[in-house]
Amino acid sequence: MSRVNGKVALVTGGAQGIGAAIGAKLAAEGAQVVLGDILDPAEFEVKEEVGACLRFDVTSSGDWNSAVRETVKRFGGLDILVNNAGIVNFGAIGEYSRQQWDAVIAVNLTGVFLGMTAVVPALKERRGGSIINISSIAGLRGYEQLPGYTASKFGVCGLTKAAALDLGRDRIRVNSVHPGFIVTPMTESLTPNTSHVALGRVGQPEEVADLVLYLASDESTFVTGAEFVIDGGETAGMAHNPVLET
Ligand code: NAP
Repeated sequence: MSRVNGKVALVTGGAQGIGAAIGAKLAAEGAQVVLGDILDPAEFEVKEEVGACLRFDVTSSGDWNSAVRETVKRFGGLDILVNNAGIVNFGAIGEYSRQQWDAVIAVNLTGVFLGMTAVVPALKERRGGSIINISSIAGLRGYEQLPGYTASKFGVCGLTKAAALDLGRDRIRVNSVHPGFIVTPMTESLTPNTSHVALGRVGQPEEVADLVLYLASDESTFVTGAEFVIDGGETAGMAHNPVLET
C-alpha cells in the first residue's frame, strides 16, 4: 500500500469515472492527491480519500497556474500529473460542426498541452516526475462519427512523445494511456459492442487506475514516450476478418 508513498499527484477530470478511480488508487498507495474538475467539488465521487478537491477548467492557463500553485503550497511540491479530463462528441465529417471541433480539441488536446506546460517548473524543482496523458484507442485508429475526438486523442499521443523527448534529461517521464470501452458517466448512454474484444467484456475505471499507478510509481523509471493500450484486446486484431466473411 505504498507504491507512490511521499509523492504528490494532480489528477484532472477527477470528479468521476476514470479520474476518480485514479485519485482513489494513488491515495490508497500513499500519494497526496489533488483532484481537479470543472464540476463543483461538492459533486466529486471521491472526497475523503484525497488531499484536496479543486474546481478548475483545463482549457484555462490561469486555472492551471492556480491549481499548481495551490498544490505546491499545500503539499510542498508536485511529482505526478494525470491529464485525464476529456469530453466526447459525435458526428460524421460534413455534419460535424466547427463548434464541436473547437470544444473537443480545447479540452482533450489544448488542455493536455497547458497542463504539461504548467507543471514542468514544479517537476523540475523535484528533479523528476511522471506525466500520464489519458488518450484512447481512438488515438491509435480511426472510428466513425468521431472526427474531433479521434484527432484530439491522436494529438495527445504525438504530444506525449514530443514532450518525453524534451523532458527526458530532466528525469520527467511522459507516457500515454489508451483505454478501450470503460464503464463511466461518459459512456453510460452508449451500448458497447464486445464481439471484437478478446476478453469479451468492457473495462472498469479501477483497471485503468492500476496501469496509471504503475506509470506514476518508481516501478516505471525507464519508461517514457510510450503508448499503453488497455482495451481487453480490442485493437489486437481486425474488427472484421474478411477471410471468414465469404
Ligand atoms: P467522465 O466520466 O466524463 O469524466 C471526465 C471528467 O472530466 C468529468 O467530470 C468532466 O466534467 C470533466 N471535464 C470535462 N471538461 C473539463 C474541463 N474543461 N476541465 C476540467 N474537467 C473537465 O469521463 P471518463 O470516461 O472517466 O474519461 C476520462 C478520460 O478517459 C477522458 O480523457 C476520456 O476521453 C478517456 N477515455 C475514456 C474511455 C471510456 O470508455 N470511458 C475510453 C477511452 C478514453 P463534465 O461531466 O462536466 O464534462
